[in-house]
Amino acid sequence: MTNKLKYFIANWKMFGDIKSLKSINSVIKFTRLNKKKNFKLIYCPPFTLLHAFNEKIKKTNIQLGAQNCHHENSYGAYTGCISPKMIRNLGAKFVIVGHSENRRTGESDILINNKIKSALKNNLTVIFCIGETLKDKRKNLTKRILRNQILKGLRTIKSTSKIIIAYEPVWSIGTGILPKNVELDKNIIFIRSIIKKNLNLKKIKIIYGGSVNPNNIHNLNSINSIDGYLIGGASQSSKKLIDIVRKSFI
Ligand code: PEP
Repeated sequence: MTNKLKYFIANWKMFGDIKSLKSINSVIKFTRLNKKKNFKLIYCPPFTLLHAFNEKIKKTNIQLGAQNCHHENSYGAYTGCISPKMIRNLGAKFVIVGHSENRRTGESDILINNKIKSALKNNLTVIFCIGETLKDKRKNLTKRILRNQILKGLRTIKSTSKIIIAYEPVWSIGTGILPKNVELDKNIIFIRSIIKKNLNLKKIKIIYGGSVNPNNIHNLNSINSIDGYLIGGASQSSKKLIDIVRKSFI
């Protein structure tokens, strides 16, 4: 295990209400006591909690992100939608784009590319999710799918300084099933090579997402190519989240 900077991104999905904010007191305390450790912790609560979260974490090292955004970067006649400008205005600096739970409802690579460009225009850092389904994997299509999602999602993007790629095999999200270390390492190295060769972009952060929990984090941390984690289910428990971060630095 190295001491390189690690990202821990908590994706609360469609969970939580105003009372849930109390539960992060212990996380705030943990980050205060561990200021010198080399990690960034980012909470992505639902839109409804962004403002309250921002108030709560104002004087901490914890940062804030949204779980999705509209492709129009400022305002428009889009009922029920939230733009990157609005997200930024609420104090968030990150946004998840291309999550498989949204791709499944019809988000295309072109739409995702437009969302990424709008988010970047508003100075948000994009957590760009990619990953193959079980069907793709069984058909040996993983590399083709990843390549396609990267090339289309990052089309005309000139810099990766505000992009974090979250590699999330869809079959691993919420299932408790993780890729084998060799497979995960190979896919992350492949993603990095596509970005370098095909897009001519330099260094990029690549995190892993899919059933990360305190029991498997030690094993995941043995894979040097990983720059951090996107954590869904386990991140709703402050105890589990603290455990994941703590075990990454022991
Ligand atoms: C996710 O929602 O991005 C995720 C990785 O979920 P889980 O950790 O629950 O698999």
